[in-house]
Amino acid sequence: MTQRALVIGASHAGAQLCASLRQEGWSGEIVLIGDEAATPYQRPPLSKAYLAGRCGLGEISIRSADFYSKQCIELVNARVEAIDRPAGHIVLGSGDVMAYDKLALCTGARPRRLHVPGADLGGVHYLRTAADVDDIRAAATRGRRVVIVGGGYIGLETAASLRALGLHVTVLEATTRVLERVTAPDVSSFFERIHREKGVDIRTNARVEGLSGNRTVREVTLTSGDTIPADLVIVGIGVEPNTDLADGAGLLVDNGIVIDDHALTDDPDITAAGDCASHRMARYGRRIRMESVSSAGEQAKVAASTICGNTRSIEALPWFWSDQYDVKLQIAGLNTGYDEVVLSGDPTRDRDFSCYYLNSGELIAADCIRRPRDFMFSKRIIANHLPVVKADLVVGGSARS
Ligand code: FAD
Repeated sequence: MTQRALVIGASHAGAQLCASLRQEGWSGEIVLIGDEAATPYQRPPLSKAYLAGRCGLGEISIRSADFYSKQCIELVNARVEAIDRPAGHIVLGSGDVMAYDKLALCTGARPRRLHVPGADLGGVHYLRTAADVDDIRAAATRGRRVVIVGGGYIGLETAASLRALGLHVTVLEATTRVLERVTAPDVSSFFERIHREKGVDIRTNARVEGLSGNRTVREVTLTSGDTIPADLVIVGIGVEPNTDLADGAGLLVDNGIVIDDHALTDDPDITAAGDCASHRMARYGRRIRMESVSSAGEQAKVAASTICGNTRSIEALPWFWSDQYDVKLQIAGLNTGYDEVVLSGDPTRDRDFSCYYLNSGELIAADCIRRPRDFMFSKRIIANHLPVVKADLVVGGSARS
């Protein structure tokens, strides 16, 4: 009998997992089930080129539409409501069931909701899907006033894209600086500077007390008592993993579906990958739920290998990027636990610099702003735990031989 691999969630992790299954030699059926209408598309451009109107959905497909038919990967547009592990099947929204031999959960994450009075008014948006961006685009006409709640990557990228469309943009960040959770103060100050130079009103220590308006949002009130007029509000305050299916099926969940080094859950027939999965990374000595395309891809490749009976492990160094205006930030590794920062370049003046994070003299992460060579260099050093000389880091990528 032909075996069937079912993959739930048709995005970065799910699409990669299906492709890798064929590469690993899976000859059985592959069914990729996703609840978004479009053929799997890349999510990062949503807050960048797609929001700014520089590309259409067809240009950001993860794979061409005929890739799936050529590889005999069946795409099913449906929502999965439950997993029945003893029966070995899943239940679709329609009530239909589909049997599986191997199941992969690539259900990703959803935006964290803003819980303040008025948060359900019209004109309040979240940004996770192409459909979300289409709604924002329809409302984001030149001259309108947008308030973005959250000064993380999504909030800042959205600010840059909407400035390009000619909107008046205010960014509200509840902590003392933008990107506080992920970067050093020098990097935060740099991004605050480039946004202010472009006319974005960045407000830190700004907590939202409530939104008001008559059906549609008109004003944002801060806990300080300040009010900000708004024609639309975009909330970017982080995401929560989609673990409902795993929870319902009794799989181990701990801020994400718990997977081992082979992307396997505590059920030998079920793997998980991407934003929904939580993996204990030996390098960092703790369980981490990554939210990046690179990690989704790596975990998906490993999950496919596991399904095919091979023994690949999740090892690649996490990396990430962000585009704001003409500035590309590339991040190698995770900076958690750094005790020293070394700068190459002057973030208060330059438009290119690198910020290196060290722990006990070892390079553990780097934020490289318009310095691709520094990024490649850092990735190699960090991945291989190679020693670094601080003076060499200061010299910077363009001068390094
Ligand atoms: P997702 O992309 O979240 O996909 C999960 C899919 O599963 C979704 O389509 C969802 O609808 C579907 N699904 C969930 N439950 C069910 C169900 N029960 N039945 C059927 N389908 C279901 N990362 C970077 O590395 N660099 C960037 O610059 C970057 N920029 C980003 C910009 C934006 C605006 C966003 C939103 C994210 C960005 N990310 C970036 C993060 C990156 O997109 C995610 O890490 C990546 O999408 C994770 O892929 P995934 O397949 O695990 O999950």
